Amino acid sequence: MQVLVYGAGQLAQMMYLEGCPMGIEVQAVDVKNEQVVHPVTKQPMNISLGQAIANADALTVEFEHVPEHLLEQASRSGKLYPSIDAVLIGADRVREKRLLTRVGVANCPHRVVTQIDQLDSCIEELGERLILKASRDGYDGYGQWRLTQSSELSALKTTLQGLDLESVPLVVEKMLDFDREVSIIGVRDKQGQIRVYPLAENLHHKGQLHVSVAPALNITDALQKQAETIFTILAEGMGYIGVLAVELFQCGEQLLVNEIAPRVHNSGHWTLSGSDVSQFNNHLRAVTGLPLGQSDSLKVSAMVNIIGCSAFSSDLLSIPGCHLYWYGKTVREKRKMGHINVTADNFAELGDKLRALSEYLPLEHFPKLEDEAKRLK
Ligand code: ATP
Ligand code: MG
Ligand code: MG
Repeated sequence: MQVLVYGAGQLAQMMYLEGCPMGIEVQAVDVKNEQVVHPVTKQPMNISLGQAIANADALTVEFEHVPEHLLEQASRSGKLYPSIDAVLIGADRVREKRLLTRVGVANCPHRVVTQIDQLDSCIEELGERLILKASRDGYDGYGQWRLTQSSELSALKTTLQGLDLESVPLVVEKMLDFDREVSIIGVRDKQGQIRVYPLAENLHHKGQLHVSVAPALNITDALQKQAETIFTILAEGMGYIGVLAVELFQCGEQLLVNEIAPRVHNSGHWTLSGSDVSQFNNHLRAVTGLPLGQSDSLKVSAMVNIIGCSAFSSDLLSIPGCHLYWYGKTVREKRKMGHINVTADNFAELGDKLRALSEYLPLEHFPKLEDEAKRLK
């Protein structure tokens, strides 16, 4: 079988690697050059995009910001999973908020802003601590601005002056004092069957995911159920097929949706080592019509992103249960270069292993690691 993935980054690469043992050949589309490339080497393949679409059993995406004309072409094949509508919802915060309202899922208080002057009324309605998000093309905290007090408003308005808010509105959210960030990742197949992984706890630094721990610490059955209900409402509400990730803020016993990602997700990379069937494997199964696999966690896991650096000792692999995933990219500041999965039998042991791991890594690039090791102990 063949699966064509729009986007040629690490997520397509990990889908490719998980497809190999099942005899599923994954090809990637470099969406900038509209060219079919090998998901690992990124070398152009000797096939036109049209031919690759015709040959594929299923088409899918590894990121939501695929140019719309390419998504339309993919959708016309009748083999795009998730659907174009689901991808476009994930790519546009205004559509995303509209979906959350339509299906009645709790999310962050917000306003859509198409003119800079509307920011004054946002402060009146939402308070002076705000986070402004470009409705399209943002990721890893790019395309966001923060307001911490109303006296900063005029400077912020000057910063935003060049933006065309009529075509790309801002979603302005109340800055929440949540207890922590978690995410629920699950998969829905063509018959509508759903499998959901345990909640992961996500630690961010400067708007970027650094560490995930799964299952999240101190998760009650009620909280896991609440997350699964949110997942099910959203997946069914979109007629979704494939892996869907939902980022959540936990406020007391309530979960609020931050955003959704219509694809495999960084906070699900732990499933490569800590679950029976990974998110990549289950995604391929769902889009090709194969039976879904188990989504329970077999161990406790931590996923540590390697961001903006490549200089560390591979001797870290001597730590039992430690797995390195390297994406083969050139180093750039803030760029995700790879990740390390660590598994253990319990959280205390996981803490020990993270502390051991910290000895092998340049800690200025891993600002969350030592504290997390201590917290798990
Ligand atoms: P991603 O790489 O996950 O796609 P993104 O650029 O789409 O990131 P968000 O997930 O919306 O951005 O926000 C990035 C981070 O900023 C969140 O994980 C959270 O830490 C913080 N954040 C976002 N919205 C809020 C909010 N309303 N209140 C407080 N913190 C927030
Ligand atoms: Mg996002
Ligand atoms: Mg996010």
